[in-house]
Amino acid sequence: MPDSPRLARYVALAASLAAVLPISGAAQAKRAHHALGIAYHIAMPDPASHYFDIELRIVGIKSDSLDLQLPVWSPGRYARMDFARNLQDMVVTTGEGKPLAKEEVNGSLWRLRTRESSSAIIKYRVFANTLSGTFSVLDSAHANWNGASLFVYVTGHKQDLVHLTVEPPAGWKVMNSQAENFAQREFDFPNYDELIDTPTEVAPSISLDSFNVDGRLYRVMLHHNGVLDSALRMRFVRGVERIVKQENAVLGPPPLAMYTFVGNAGYKGSDGMEHLYSTQIIDPHVLTDTAAVDDYLGYASHEYFHVWNVKRIRPYLLGPFDYTSERYEPSLWVAEGWTEYYGIISLQRAGITRPAQLYVTLGEDITYDLTRPARRWMSAREASMHAPFFDGGAQPMAVDAPSNFISYYTKGEGLALLLDIEIRSRTNGGRSLDDALRSLKKRSWDAPKASYYLQGRGYTELDVERAVSDAAGVDMHDWFTRFVGGTEELPFAESLAKIGLSLTASGDSASRKYTVAPAPDATKEQLARRALWLVHDVTTAEQ
Ligand SMILES: [Zn+2]
Ligand SMILES: [Zn+2]
Repeated sequence: MPDSPRLARYVALAASLAAVLPISGAAQAKRAHHALGIAYHIAMPDPASHYFDIELRIVGIKSDSLDLQLPVWSPGRYARMDFARNLQDMVVTTGEGKPLAKEEVNGSLWRLRTRESSSAIIKYRVFANTLSGTFSVLDSAHANWNGASLFVYVTGHKQDLVHLTVEPPAGWKVMNSQAENFAQREFDFPNYDELIDTPTEVAPSISLDSFNVDGRLYRVMLHHNGVLDSALRMRFVRGVERIVKQENAVLGPPPLAMYTFVGNAGYKGSDGMEHLYSTQIIDPHVLTDTAAVDDYLGYASHEYFHVWNVKRIRPYLLGPFDYTSERYEPSLWVAEGWTEYYGIISLQRAGITRPAQLYVTLGEDITYDLTRPARRWMSAREASMHAPFFDGGAQPMAVDAPSNFISYYTKGEGLALLLDIEIRSRTNGGRSLDDALRSLKKRSWDAPKASYYLQGRGYTELDVERAVSDAAGVDMHDWFTRFVGGTEELPFAESLAKIGLSLTASGDSASRKYTVAPAPDATKEQLARRALWLVHDVTTAEQ
C-alpha cells in the first residue's frame, strides 16, 4: 500500500505545482491546471488466478466529480482493444474509506462523485492471461504488463506526475526500464503516458546483462523458459550491442541515460513492442542455437530503431495520445515501414547478416509489394489509415485481406529502399535516407514543444515530404504523389540498378517471385554506391 508520507508528498507536490503556474495571459485564459496527487499500487496475491489487484489513490481533488478512463487501445498496436472487458470489482471510497458514488459512463469510463471528499481510493481487479506487447499476463511463471491494459487514468490529468508501487509475489524480481535493480518497488513517472510506456516483467528468475554505448547504459533482460546457455546469451547481448552502435549512428544517441531490452523467450506469445526507454521482445522459441539468437536480434534491430522513429520522431497523433478511441493517421508507412527497412539493413551493417541474406529478404518483400492485390487501389497512406482494422484487430467477419489491405510495414520498407537509393543517386552518395530522418527530426522533435508530452511536436505527411526533399536536394512532391499518395507500381528494378543490383521475375502471374542479386554488368560507379549502401568493402563482404 502507498504509505502516508508518500501521500503527504503528493499533496504538497500538487499544491506547489498549482502555485508555481505562471499567471501569463495565456494561462489566465486557459485556467491554471490543478495537478492531483496520483499513486498506483499493483499486487499479485495469487499468480495462478491471472488476476492483478490494482489500487489508485488520488489526493488534492477540488471538483465535484472525477472521470476515470481505461484506454481502449495501446500505442504501438493500433486496433481498438477495449481492455475494460477484463476489469472487474471496482470499489471506490474516500481516502478515509467512506463509500463514494460512481457511475459507468461507457464501458471504459467511470464518473466518481467527489463533492464530499478531496481524496479517493479506487480498487479493482484485472484478468490478464495474454503475453504480448499490448496485453498483460500473470501466471505461475511470471507477470508481464503493458500499462494501458491495467491502469485507469483521471481524465484531464494525464499530464500529472504519477507514482507506482509494485508488490510482487515473494521472491520474484521486478524489472522495467526504470528499475535500477531487481529489488526496486517504487517508481515515479512524469505523467500517465510514461507509466503505461514502461512495460514491466516480474518473475522468479531473470538474467540481466549490460553494456555502454555513447555514454548510455544498455541492459538486456531475459526471462528464459529453462536453462539459458551462457555462450548463446552473450552472443545475443553482443549482437544487440552492435545493433545499438550501428543504429545510434543514424540519428545520434537517443536522449536517455538507460535503455532496457525486455525479453521473454520460450513462453506462449510472439511480439515486439517499442517503448520510450525499453522494448519488449517476446517469442515462444527458447535460445537453443545461433539461428534462434539471430531471430531475436531481428526483433532487437527493428524495435531499437523505434527509439527515435515513432517514439520521439512521431506522427502527430502519436504523442500525446488520445486513449479514448482508436487513432487513424497516414504516416505508419514511415513510422513502421522505414523502421522495417532500417531494421533489416542495420543487421547487415552491424555484420550480423551477410549481403546474400539481405538480398533474399529484400526479394521476398519486393515480391509482396509487387504482387499483393490491394496495391492496385490502396496507397501507403491509406494502408496506414487502416492500421486499426488490421493491426491486432478482431476479425468476426470474413475479410478478403489480400485484396483489402497492403501492409504499411512492407510497402513502407519498399518506399524507404527506393527513397534511400533515390537520395544517394541524386546527391552522388553525399546524402541518404538518414539525412531525411535527420531533417524530419529537426522539423518535429526539435520544434517548439507543442504539449506537455516529451519534446517538440508530431509530424505530418507534409513534413515527411519536405524532409525527403531536403535530403534529395530537389522537390519530391511529384514522387510522393505517385508512389506514397498514389498507387503507381513501385519502380524497384530501375532503382536497384543504380546500386548495381538486378531484379529478376520468375513464375507465372499467379506465383510470381522476384529475386535480388548483384548485377554482373554493374558499372564502377554503381558498385561504389552499393558498397557505401552496404557499408562494407564490396570486394570482401559480397558473397
Ligand atoms: Zn517473463
Ligand atoms: Zn515496429
